[in-house]
Amino acid sequence: MSTCPGCHVVLSEKHACPPDRFNASGECWQAFNELSCYTIAKQDPAFIHQHAVDAYGAQHGGGNTRPITIAFALIGLYLAQEKGCTGKEVQAAHMRIARIFRVWPRLEPPAKPAELTVLDVLQADSYEKNDEMIRQWSKSVWKSWEHYHPWVRETAARML
Ligand SMILES: [Zn+2]
Repeated sequence: MSTCPGCHVVLSEKHACPPDRFNASGECWQAFNELSCYTIAKQDPAFIHQHAVDAYGAQHGGGNTRPITIAFALIGLYLAQEKGCTGKEVQAAHMRIARIFRVWPRLEPPAKPAELTVLDVLQADSYEKNDEMIRQWSKSVWKSWEHYHPWVRETAARML
């Protein structure tokens, strides 16, 4: 079995290559790619894929994950959870922030990762439940980063 260093999900060992961009096991990364096949193919106007990307990014901080990846993921989760933004709106906000140069601080991931992982989303038994689980996952990851909520709110307010 392999345990993901980011989200702590335990999956059967497949000797999959870990990603360069995230503090994740190769098996967890494969699970996320499987989910992405569904969320991207969906081509929904609300672009739910963005919430999955942000939940995954924020849940795989530490290691070789770049500070900007975590900061963007947290801003995305904040906009979705506290401002009710769609994935499409979050994507537009990310593009606006990306144009402003800044050095992002290294944010320390929570000691205990969120309860839900990409696996819970994949295990949903229908597409509708899949989308609902992505929202729950996003909520659970946002909650796990509570120690940085004031920083994220303030940073988003300043940059958007
Ligand atoms: Zn993981």
